[in-house]
Amino acid sequence: AIITNHMPTEELQALDAAHHMHPFSNGDELSAKGARVITRAKGVTLTDSEGVELLDAMAGLWCVNIGYGRDELADVAARQMRELPYYNTFFQTTHVPVIALSQRLAELAPGDLNHVFYAGSGSEANDTNIRMVRTYWAEKGKPTKSIIISRKNAYHGSSVGSGSLGGMTPMHAQGGLPIPDIHHINQPNWWAEGGDMSPEEFGLARARELEEAINELGEDRVAAFIAEPIQGAGGVIVPPETYWPEIQRICDKYEILLIADEVICGFGRTGNWFGSQTLNIRPHIMTIAKGLSSGYAPIGGSIVCDEVAEVINACEFNHGYTYSGHPVAAAVALENLRILDEEKIVEKGAAETAPYLKEKWEALTDHPLVGEAKIVGFMGSIALTPDKAARAKFASDPGTVGYICRERCFANKLVMRHVGDRMIISPPLVISKSEIDTLIDRAHQSLDECY
Ligand code: PLP
Repeated sequence: AIITNHMPTEELQALDAAHHMHPFSNGDELSAKGARVITRAKGVTLTDSEGVELLDAMAGLWCVNIGYGRDELADVAARQMRELPYYNTFFQTTHVPVIALSQRLAELAPGDLNHVFYAGSGSEANDTNIRMVRTYWAEKGKPTKSIIISRKNAYHGSSVGSGSLGGMTPMHAQGGLPIPDIHHINQPNWWAEGGDMSPEEFGLARARELEEAINELGEDRVAAFIAEPIQGAGGVIVPPETYWPEIQRICDKYEILLIADEVICGFGRTGNWFGSQTLNIRPHIMTIAKGLSSGYAPIGGSIVCDEVAEVINACEFNHGYTYSGHPVAAAVALENLRILDEEKIVEKGAAETAPYLKEKWEALTDHPLVGEAKIVGFMGSIALTPDKAARAKFASDPGTVGYICRERCFANKLVMRHVGDRMIISPPLVISKSEIDTLIDRAHQSLDECY
């Protein structure tokens, strides 16, 4: 039988349950419930197989920065597929889409981040980074510098390497992660872990854990520190203002390579092209994916500074993926960047809609269930709490209230995610003020239904 959008939802769900294994899901639970079938999307709105329209406050998985349904990207993909659907970049060949995209990324990226190594995803790009920073130090005659310091609760991907860089305990509990020589320090989550300290004191204390770790492990053994400028999947943890300047100072002092994982923060999400600009960080390598193509094609990569690229280029780096610099994905990404630029989506978003969203989002703290509300650009979170003043946690299993709230949002036609008892948003950057009103109304209603 031909399977189409027009089949009854239950039949589609049954087929899905029979043959499709979902990421990060309990398959039995999901098949009992039936996955929601999304059939099309436009702007910030998803339509499901029952014709219900949902406001997607997560931009898919933090990626559809430009919004759904841009025909220009489909046209570019079709044209590129006809002209050159595939060729590799391994054996002394290249092609125009990858040349043009690399040139554009070098232009957009701050400082001397002028060189791009491509991957098919953020996970693959972070795997590249592990090998690249270790190879860099080995080539510089310092092969003992192999430890990469990361943070608890960080998310850097799901492959064995990137999942090891990440600090998600449930991921480390399965499949033998982490690989050797990855070390995790605490995250700057003041709301949950700040105790009696002010956010500023706490930010400094958490940043200084990096220095303590370097001293403990030995400066001659540490290759790099990796972090998301703002931790995304860990719950949109906006660090106190003291945090990043201190991290930057420590990386400079000990000559530790700094990798900014911009997979979520990149391409306008925080109000600038890159989160490193918003947070005033000077990374040696930036991981990119998601917003690079607004999710229209799978593509990721590492944007590398002159010094690291020079060392890596001087040796044969035995690394790469069949789809490194895939021509169709590169052409789609380039078109996405053209639209973001020509329509001034990043600048207009930052100047007009982001301040409006911030005001409305922060006003959610008036709700009795909401403790802190944090938002930078278009990534925000609220902490659910039974007692704001005490910054208390719910007695139930962590995440129970968040899960219920997410389900209420879903029923109220709003896609919001939960991480434990934090609710998070990351809408397309093209969301309008009236769509923001709808988002906030539905969030409010859902919170009311949990209270
Ligand atoms: N890095 C960060 C910060 C992410 O949020 C993600 C995905 O959510 C990744 C890396 C992994 O990217 P991908 O899912 O494309 O492999």
